[in-house]
Amino acid sequence: MHTLMQGGETGSSRHSLLNVCAQPVLHRLSLYGELPAQLIQIISRASVRLMDSDMLISQTMHNYEAAEQLNRPSVALSQPTHDLETILERIEQDGLALHYRSFMQNFAHLFSLFLTPDQYERARASIDAGSALRFLMSDAGGPTLTSWRTVAQPEGDGFKLHIDKVWGMYANLDGMAIVAARTPGSFFPSAFLVWPEQYKTLKRTLCGEPFLGDVVQLGNVKGTVQVAQEDRLKVGGPAVLNKYLTTVRPFLVRALMAHLEWLASQGRLELTPDERASRDFIAAAARTKTLADRYESEDVHRVLALKLASNELLLHLVSRGAVASFLDQRDLLAFTKMEGSSYRCYHELRASMRVAKPEPESI
Ligand SMILES: Cc1cc2nc3c(=O)[nH]c(=O)nc-3n(C[C@H](O)[C@H](O)[C@H](O)COP(=O)(O)OP(=O)(O)OC[C@H]3O[C@@H](n4cnc5c(N)ncnc54)[C@H](O)[C@@H]3O)c2cc1C
Repeated sequence: MHTLMQGGETGSSRHSLLNVCAQPVLHRLSLYGELPAQLIQIISRASVRLMDSDMLISQTMHNYEAAEQLNRPSVALSQPTHDLETILERIEQDGLALHYRSFMQNFAHLFSLFLTPDQYERARASIDAGSALRFLMSDAGGPTLTSWRTVAQPEGDGFKLHIDKVWGMYANLDGMAIVAARTPGSFFPSAFLVWPEQYKTLKRTLCGEPFLGDVVQLGNVKGTVQVAQEDRLKVGGPAVLNKYLTTVRPFLVRALMAHLEWLASQGRLELTPDERASRDFIAAAARTKTLADRYESEDVHRVLALKLASNELLLHLVSRGAVASFLDQRDLLAFTKMEGSSYRCYHELRASMRVAKPEPESI
């Protein structure tokens, strides 16, 4: 288990709050190799800062250890990633803005892993006819599933889908969507395909100023559509959305690390040797993950730790003044929220660990 001591701290700080509460993150990251000392520091400070009252009240001085493994068998994954590799190379040469749309279109293809052959064929036909795929998760009711306003009520052979979604990329434009919804009686959100002709009927509004120049516009979406049973995503089981996010997050992290490289080459970002080491570690770890050809249940946490590390490096660079322009600063911070804020990642990573039985000398 990695501790702050490996980052150069003294033995007396072994049970510092900083040290202990970073363990759920550092433990997962250590699976990718030895962490650079500065990255350990960045993550440790972040972990302390991210603690809410509930976490603080339950925090003990004892080390964490991984909770019982479920030992679910890993599943083979054949990801259609050839295009993504090429795009990632281009992002490093030209920056993210120029290649963002094609990068996101490839994310949509990764969703094909979670569609039935019939759903895939229909979605493919819509995409080929020019309809881009929106992914609508963030809800106007807030982050807790029980308070979501987007609800799928069983009706007839299918569901009446009441949609009230916010902050969707390009959600203001026509297209098709995967909409996450609360389904009465289920602990997990369900996901539904909403086809272009249905999506057209929804009320869409622009949300905020765009990011990455004028490339990434967010939109809010509201309205009701009737969806069929066959439009519900079933491949991948109830945790399908989590599996999708686990698949795409390392690609996003690679894109962000490539974008940092480009910003530095343009003189828009200053990277110290230590920061570069952190960037390189995160980029290499994310690359390892995207090249994996199996999906293991443990990957959820390995990838959450990676997204948290990426978020915190971006935040560190912005907050120490390494990024000169306001717009670059705003873009980088936006990417610390998208597909997993540090708070959400940290929350889940803590929940995935348990407090180890205290060693006699540590009491
Ligand atoms: C550029 C961009 C593109 C996006 N694209 C999409 C998209 O296509 N589709 C989509 O569905 N969404 C999209 N989003 C939304 C994104 O997914 C959310 O911003 C993300 O899930 C984080 O949610 P959040 O901002 O509510 O922050 P969270 O950190 O998840 O916060 C959630 C809640 O936790 C609380 N909280 C946060 N930190 C703490 C703390 N330290 N202590 C105690 N409480 C805390 C907050 O009060 C808040 O209520 C996009 C966002 C951006 C910026």
